[in-house]
Amino acid sequence: MTIEAPSTLSYLAPETTGYLSGKLFGHVVDGAVVESVDGRTMPVIDPSTGLEVATAARGAQADVDRVVGSARAAFDDGRWRNLGPLEKEQRLHRFSRLIDEHRTVFGDLDAVDAGLLRSYTRFLEDFGVNATAYFAGWPSKILGTIPPVPAGLTAQHRRVPRGVVALVVPWNGPTAVVAFAAAIMAAGNSLVLKAAENTPMSAVLMAELAVEAGIPPGVFNVLQGTGAEVGEALVTHPGTDFVMFTGSAATGRAIQRAAATTLTPVSLELGGKSPFIVFDDVDIAATAAAATASVWSGQGQVCTAGSRVLVQRSIHDEFVASMVEASRSVRLGNAFDPASTLGPLVSRAQLDRVASYVEIGKAEGVDVALDGGLAGDGGFFHEPVIFTGVRNDMRIAQEEIFGPVMSVIPFDDEADALRIGNDVEFGLAAGVFTNDLRRSQRMIDGLDVGTVWVNTYQAGYPTVSYGGVKQSGYGRTLGEEMIHELTHVKSVWISA
Ligand code: NAD
Repeated sequence: MTIEAPSTLSYLAPETTGYLSGKLFGHVVDGAVVESVDGRTMPVIDPSTGLEVATAARGAQADVDRVVGSARAAFDDGRWRNLGPLEKEQRLHRFSRLIDEHRTVFGDLDAVDAGLLRSYTRFLEDFGVNATAYFAGWPSKILGTIPPVPAGLTAQHRRVPRGVVALVVPWNGPTAVVAFAAAIMAAGNSLVLKAAENTPMSAVLMAELAVEAGIPPGVFNVLQGTGAEVGEALVTHPGTDFVMFTGSAATGRAIQRAAATTLTPVSLELGGKSPFIVFDDVDIAATAAAATASVWSGQGQVCTAGSRVLVQRSIHDEFVASMVEASRSVRLGNAFDPASTLGPLVSRAQLDRVASYVEIGKAEGVDVALDGGLAGDGGFFHEPVIFTGVRNDMRIAQEEIFGPVMSVIPFDDEADALRIGNDVEFGLAAGVFTNDLRRSQRMIDGLDVGTVWVNTYQAGYPTVSYGGVKQSGYGRTLGEEMIHELTHVKSVWISA
């Protein structure tokens, strides 16, 4: 298939074009966008065309010192954490409204930066606006407790901010990250947002809007650069008090190892290989469409992609045929083209990784129900692939591919579905599709994951906590649990 590659820039809204004009996507230090100390830069590549569309700063140790120093000073002098709780709420609400007013620019930046379909980035914008609004209400509601103690003494558990939080993020949902930044600030912390090197753009706009909303400069800083050059230096910096990481399991392990040297606490939201489990009592066409959507949306570059589709043997062939049928209407194209239903992968490296897994699958001897390959001349496009006859011990069933590649595995009964569903190192999420209420309860109990969806998939809302178990990490984001994660308990004893 050949993909037309018109310049993506012609699709941009005038306000985005204005924002991009002459812009360096630099670090944000003390509220100002700055170059790297040594002046180095890196290109920002549009995955739909493979063309360079902007320039970002490329950081090194000196930049890490500068951003952490800025966040440290802002925390230590109390310019943010000592504001009244309702004052903090008003400024965070203003921040949320500004995100809302800049939806178009955020959506355009995510589409040109990450190659996410413009229709998909609307979901990220909604999530960012809703989540910042939700966390804006927290500062006046972070309560401690008063534990009972013997007479003559009073004790308190106070919930206090962690301090300087390093927020290290991946590239697959850039604007959703404002949710995390808002939670970090709502808990009274300062932050350094380490943007992913593939997507440096929207982080800068977020930090600029935070200052416009009245959040003091220095509270929300941004660090640009590669994981190798600035990631570890940020995590082990003596000025960093807590690391909130979202990304791959391999990087999560590297961060935990590095943070051990300074005993810096970390929370890790890592990858997944989530089972999408289909019993034989479902509406086959509707569930097959949901299964394909769970892997094709975001081009499969979503941590909760239901990339292991477990289907009860009695409906296996009909279900696979229905998924293949549902996938025939997929149209690859530029992330901005309204006719596109599948965009490019984020980078050439990601495209090569996905293509190599398709070869691995074929070499493992599976059947190919939908045979997709590389597509397009300039952009990083890969057609969807459905493997059947997959055994759960194969690499394509065990390893996170992060692309539009699905493995279908048959099962016989509930016990078999649970055994296969749990037989993977990850434990991020699972979907269960059945009309049998009691069976769904047993599956919820038996699945060893952080989130279970029943007859829906990838539902999410800022009030609901999210995170994984096993190699999908630990710690929780969103909901009240995130506020707990971002504070610690200070115990106080007072004599009468
Ligand atoms: P990645 O682990 O390669 O990189 C994530 C971030 O870590 C980037 O900003 C990178 O620069 C930085 N980094 C890399 N090495 C580092 C180091 N040694 N020290 C500190 N920072 C370092 O992940 P990615 O390729 O950007 O994103 C894809 C992965 O993220 C997938 O595995 C996906 O499942 C996962 N993910 C998980 C969730 C979740 O909520 N569980 C959400 C989105 C993505």
